[in-house]
Amino acid sequence: MQNNPDTTLVTQTARIANATHGGRAKCLQRLLRLDLPVPRTVALSFGTVDRIASGELPNIDSVVDEFPKDALLCVRPSSEDPDWGGPGAVLNIGMNDARFVNFSKTMGEEAAAAIYTRFIQSYAINVARLDPDMFDDVEGEGRAALEQTLDAYELEAEEKFPQSRRTQLAAVVRSMARAWSGTSARLLRQAKGAPADAGLGLVVQQMIFGLGAGQCGSGVLQLVDSDTGAPQVTGRYLSQSQGRDALDGDEEALYLTRDPRGPSLEEKLPEAFETLKTYASLMRVRLRAEMQVEFAIDDGVVHILDGVRVSRSSRAAVRIAVTLANDGIISREEALMRVQPRLLTELLHRQIDPNARRDVVGKGIAASPGAATGRLVFDSAEAQASASRGEACILVRRETSSEDVRGMHAAKAVLTERGGITSHAAVIGRGIGLPCVVGASSMVFNQRDKTITSKDGRVFHAGDEMTVDGSTGQILAGAAAMREAALDDYFQQLMAWASDSADIKVRANADTPLDAQTARNFNAEGIGLCRTEHMFFDRGRLTVMREMIFADTSDGRRAVLERLLPMQRDDFTQLFRIMEGKPVCIRLFDPPLHEFLPMDASGQRELAEALGLPRSDVTRRIEAMREYNPMLGLRGVRLGITVPEIYEMQARAIFEAIVDASENGAPVMAEIMIPLVSARREVELVKAAIDTVALAVQAERGVEFVYRLGVMVETPRAALRASEIAPHCAFLSFGTNDLTQMTYGLSRDDAGRFMSDYVQQGVFDEDPFHTLDHDGVGELLVLGAQRGRAAQPGITLSVCGEHGGNPESIAFCRAAGFDYVSCSPFRVPVARLAAAQLAI
Ligand code: PEP
Ligand code: MG
Repeated sequence: MQNNPDTTLVTQTARIANATHGGRAKCLQRLLRLDLPVPRTVALSFGTVDRIASGELPNIDSVVDEFPKDALLCVRPSSEDPDWGGPGAVLNIGMNDARFVNFSKTMGEEAAAAIYTRFIQSYAINVARLDPDMFDDVEGEGRAALEQTLDAYELEAEEKFPQSRRTQLAAVVRSMARAWSGTSARLLRQAKGAPADAGLGLVVQQMIFGLGAGQCGSGVLQLVDSDTGAPQVTGRYLSQSQGRDALDGDEEALYLTRDPRGPSLEEKLPEAFETLKTYASLMRVRLRAEMQVEFAIDDGVVHILDGVRVSRSSRAAVRIAVTLANDGIISREEALMRVQPRLLTELLHRQIDPNARRDVVGKGIAASPGAATGRLVFDSAEAQASASRGEACILVRRETSSEDVRGMHAAKAVLTERGGITSHAAVIGRGIGLPCVVGASSMVFNQRDKTITSKDGRVFHAGDEMTVDGSTGQILAGAAAMREAALDDYFQQLMAWASDSADIKVRANADTPLDAQTARNFNAEGIGLCRTEHMFFDRGRLTVMREMIFADTSDGRRAVLERLLPMQRDDFTQLFRIMEGKPVCIRLFDPPLHEFLPMDASGQRELAEALGLPRSDVTRRIEAMREYNPMLGLRGVRLGITVPEIYEMQARAIFEAIVDASENGAPVMAEIMIPLVSARREVELVKAAIDTVALAVQAERGVEFVYRLGVMVETPRAALRASEIAPHCAFLSFGTNDLTQMTYGLSRDDAGRFMSDYVQQGVFDEDPFHTLDHDGVGELLVLGAQRGRAAQPGITLSVCGEHGGNPESIAFCRAAGFDYVSCSPFRVPVARLAAAQLAI
């Protein structure tokens, strides 16, 4: 037997490994090495199971010979990673008519009949693949039920129930091996991250009954609460039961520790309880993980059947990892590796309670995580009115634009009919931590009637209460039970360790003092992108902005911009102060000007009144500014060159803010970034203008200051021509949102409409606005970085598009030698943990 490579008796010294026999077999060996009372076990390797699945006959003799003649057996799956699952366990193999008679004498007829009946049913369904309904007519209990079950089996299977333990075991093993290679099982485990060719091992174990005379039963125990990760012995125990029966909600099941809800194992069987606790603590320390112990008690004696990693919420995962490290059981690096970065997202926002009932009425793209309940409002003014009454509201729009930002600030969540992962609502939502679902085209939006209608015809009006789940994209009728964000000490501890390990920096995209404060709270290493246009969305500023756009001459524009200057200066001063010497990268004005103009008749009328112009003038001017393709039109640096007054005002505001914020020697590190560059001359012109303003401010204020000027690489040409652009800059920051848009020729605002079709049909592996396209956009990043560095060694390289918060994209940037990534403030913790894991 020891020489038979197909089957291995699990002993302390046998050759068993996760990669050959699976996690369960390896764990059982570890338990044996701890001298825990584990029943006799034989492991079948991945190769063996694979051959059986392909039709080879299992070598059952070598398995069966390892067990006492009368023993019943069970078979359980053992995949490499226990989280990948596997076919369900089959218990009580070997039960037959003769053993029924024998067991009836030792454990009583009822218990023996229960075991046999249950085995026949599980064999019929899982192995012989018969219809589960065939046992519906079985009535009564004990021997009567057993006889009916045997008859039903014979009728349906057209043969008697097999009596030989060998035959039964061979059939069980074959059926489990085949189940693993089936298509649905493969898809299921691939969804959990398993490779397509993941192997399955099997463990065959001697049954401990948990039924019969004396104290018998089974249960599970763990030392922490799965929801919070706090130390707390939890689990259930059911007398006269097997497997995981105790967890099936049987009212007779005992709690483990004293509990007001009912009697406990601690009270009923104190010795067994203490033994189990000792075993579980030993497993925690020696297996270096919080384990759930599956046990059976047979005539008062405790047996350990299995140990699996405790299932855990995201919050518990963080607390468990940090506590194990603090207890010296694992290293800090290991603690960092044990938490999946994406899980942190759940901790940073309110979430719908996983146990809550969900009345889902629609679905869109999950664009900004977190969930909120509120009454529906259909424009920003209503949102602000709602907020001023202290009422939670959800802002519903076809899509959002600059005018909706104030409404978004007032709302608890935003829901749009159109848009994709980098559309306006999505970007702003993530920036301010506002739950957001976009592209919810499964519902009909009627802005005029102020209704949204679900596919099945349910109509929701303004004022109706709904819940938006930006983590899943679901839209729910009514309120749902929520779970609060969990930024507890364990989270903070893990983040501090992450910063110690990471070797690529993480900055935040922050537009307002509030964003900057969030970024600081999450320990961002600076601001990597401040989109200054978002500062003009305030009601008061919007009107001034519109006046500037309508001014006819350069002097007229300058006069209006004078009024915006102190506002911008105050914004920047606040940002510099909040960031306390950490770099603040300010991007000069980027969007097309007409984004600031009202498109609807009532807005245009208001504007005409505010400017004292005839309405026809306003309409005509707006019409004249219309572009066929505004994202490729007069925006970014093009505006900086053709309407230079805006950049001059912004540069002055930045420089004056540097002087103000650095009074009394407080450090300021300002960076100015030029958007949408495609040619060297653009940089030369803007740089010259900005340097002139700097000199003027230094002369006026009588102080010197330093600043860094850089370019945002958002067009393919800027990446390709990086060698001639880089010599003029201190940094290149890749704006991968626009770069993706322009590389694919794919509108970031419209792609949401067909992206899911494209992904489903395998045209794109994933939405390239969400996960960086390594092959195409990535090649431009690498080219631009290489060319930029060759021309200007020491130039700072970064990514500030939405991809900056994505763990795979961070890995790409790190491999390409980038200095930092910048992402929405609420994604900073995810990015920091991902960065740390890459460096470990
Ligand atoms: C980008 O294009 O990647 C970027 C960060 O700028 P924005 O999203 O503001 O266009
Ligand atoms: Mg851009």
